[in-house]
Formats: sequence, C-alpha cells, structure tokens
Amino acid sequence: MSCIFCAIVAGKAPAAVVWEDEETLAFMDINPVSQGHVLVVPKEHYRNLYDIDPESAAAVMRTTVRVARAVREALRPDGMNLFQSSERAAFQSVFHFHVHIIPRWFGDELRLPPQVQRTDFSVLQEIAARIRERL
Ligand code: AMP
Ligand code: ZN
Repeated sequence: MSCIFCAIVAGKAPAAVVWEDEETLAFMDINPVSQGHVLVVPKEHYRNLYDIDPESAAAVMRTTVRVARAVREALRPDGMNLFQSSERAAFQSVFHFHVHIIPRWFGDELRLPPQVQRTDFSVLQEIAARIRERL
C-alpha cells in the first residue's frame, strides 16, 4: 500500500489511535511539533482540499472538534492551532487529506511566518470579487 495513512486506516501500519468512527480516524503524529499533536484523516483516500468531498471534510471537522476538546482536557494547553496543508508549496508531505491539531503553550518554540503585507482595501475588494465569481 503506497499511502501510509491508508495503511494506518487498514490496520497495516502502526498508529497511536485516539478516535475512530465510520468515516474518520485520529491518531498521534509520529513527529509531533508539540506534545499532543494529533492528525485527523478521512478513512477514504483524498489527496487534499482540492478533491475531498465536502461531506467527508465535514466528518473530519466533527472529529477534529471532538478530539481537540479531549486534547485540551488531557493536556491543558494554553491554546491550539488547526493546520491543513494542500500541495507542496503549503508544506504537504503526506498526500492523504489530514488536519493537524497542534496544542500550544505560551513560550513554545513554534513560529508562524511573521511577515504580513498591509494591503489597500481596493486590492482586497478586487481579490474578493475574483473569488466570489467562482462560488
Ligand atoms: P503534512 O506536512 O501536513 O503533509 O504532514 C504530514 C504529517 O504526517 C507530518 O507531521 C508527519 O510527522 C506525519 N506522519 C508521517 N508519517 C506518519 C505516520 N506513519 N504516523 C503518524 N504520523 C505520520
Ligand atoms: Zn491514503
């Protein structure tokens, strides 16, 4: 089986599972960026955001909310990030859709790129219009 997350879903690769239901599985990330880093996947294989069907994505989000609250109870982090990577430019390395649940603590080493670009409202309006046209 070439997809490692499909192998985990099939029980053919090891994982520390925290939740399983008909449509989703949640398990500990093997290289956690913080203690309690969990991945939530649909059992069906989708590459990423571009091809996952909205119902499966909704099932993943239901599990994500449930597991995130359990992580909070279990580990008492100061905060939490959800992270989803689609395609290499966005750091995707495993090409089976997954959401990262990343507990955060004040003073932890995790940094998001800090540079933001102040942008004219007219530019935001123009980009919003281009997106709206496709919805
Ligand atoms: P991404 O960069 O968003 O594609 O994230 C892939 C994540 O999968 C990384 O955080 C890896 O540490 C994690 N990962 C890769 N292989 C395994 C595995 N066998 N079990 C658990 N997590 C894994
Ligand atoms: Zn897969």
